[in-house]
Amino acid sequence: MNDIRTDLGLRLVINAAGTMTALGASIAVPQAIDAASAILGQFVEIGELQKLASRTISDVCDTEAGFVTASSAAGLTLAVAGTMTGIDLGAVERLPDTSAFSKSQVLIQSGHLINYGAPIEQSIRLAGASVVPVGQATTARRYHLESAITERTAAAVYVVSHHTVQYGLIELAEFVEVSHAHGVPVIVDAASEYDLKSFLAAGADICLYSAHKFMGGLTAGIVAGRVVPVRHAYAQNIGIGRGMKVGKESIYGAIAAMRAWARRDHAPDRARQESHLALWARVLAERPGVRAEILPDPTGNPLRRLRVFVSPDTARITAWDLADSLSTGERPIIVRDDEIDEGYFDLDPCNLQEEEEHVVASRLGETLDAALKANLPRHTPVSDRHNRTAMALSHWPD
Ligand SMILES: *Cc1c(COP(=O)(O)O)cnc(C)c1O
Repeated sequence: MNDIRTDLGLRLVINAAGTMTALGASIAVPQAIDAASAILGQFVEIGELQKLASRTISDVCDTEAGFVTASSAAGLTLAVAGTMTGIDLGAVERLPDTSAFSKSQVLIQSGHLINYGAPIEQSIRLAGASVVPVGQATTARRYHLESAITERTAAAVYVVSHHTVQYGLIELAEFVEVSHAHGVPVIVDAASEYDLKSFLAAGADICLYSAHKFMGGLTAGIVAGRVVPVRHAYAQNIGIGRGMKVGKESIYGAIAAMRAWARRDHAPDRARQESHLALWARVLAERPGVRAEILPDPTGNPLRRLRVFVSPDTARITAWDLADSLSTGERPIIVRDDEIDEGYFDLDPCNLQEEEEHVVASRLGETLDAALKANLPRHTPVSDRHNRTAMALSHWPD
């Protein structure tokens, strides 16, 4: 079969990392592709299409309203902006100048100040708000939040993600309880979560999801929640939202992906993923210096991954050198490497295409065998790898 990537001179990359912007997010589901191509050749009234999106979002998220924007990061900026402007359209046009507003501070737990390809605090500051960290990296208590809320507080942001610190912080129910007791709206960033209902049911005023992640929509962000705060966020489309504009194809693509997601039978997906994990675990069990463990998703999404621990002295290669080796060649395999300096990476089966699991299995085996036979062990400093993105940017497009 003809592969567009070959025509473009792009490598046939295998995504064992999860849903990553840098790898093209996800494989769009057929329903989203059909929706995009059906609407691209037509004029539509975008406002009406967004109302249809609102009804779809209400249904699938069991909430009052919603709209589609460019990304979850954009949705966060717009949601924050809405908490400062309300429906004052003059204020909407003045952003990001917030000097005349009485409320322009946004609270977020220090352990939630993540980077999802860009710093989350920047998505908040883009609206003109200032960020007030609550607690410390691994500790936040009710008193930290209570004490941080002032008459200048516009909103509080809560992040659900494997990127956040997973212990020692305030849980959503308590975060909502304290914020609401002081009249502060809560925005939940749940961009990568399968659960479209529970954060809103727990009291979030607005919840953000990425249409291009697990749902397989076109690139877009879904802003869902109570009608008034969602309306205020939507109003930003005549202001700072302009640069975060989303086209008809992405709006309808998100609608189609949400509808498909609500109807999807997940059991066959799960079974296929589990068989991939078992296959890779068998390859690793036969080799010295590596150990594999199947782990549940840290935020409770219904999927499991294979964690590959590498002992560099026995395997004669470090975890990051192994990951780098896998990412070379005609079928580069990209692994989930957020914690790779700890000596392990994860293999995520959820985005594999037909038959790619066998390529992953054989490349794993071959690479480990080659490391054992090599004259010299591969133990490069992990800092080289950490600094590579910055190096690449300073030479782009070379
Ligand atoms: C992926 C992700 C984002 C960014 O989502 P985009 O839609 O790509 O902007 C934001 N927050 C979290 C928690 C994420 O996982």
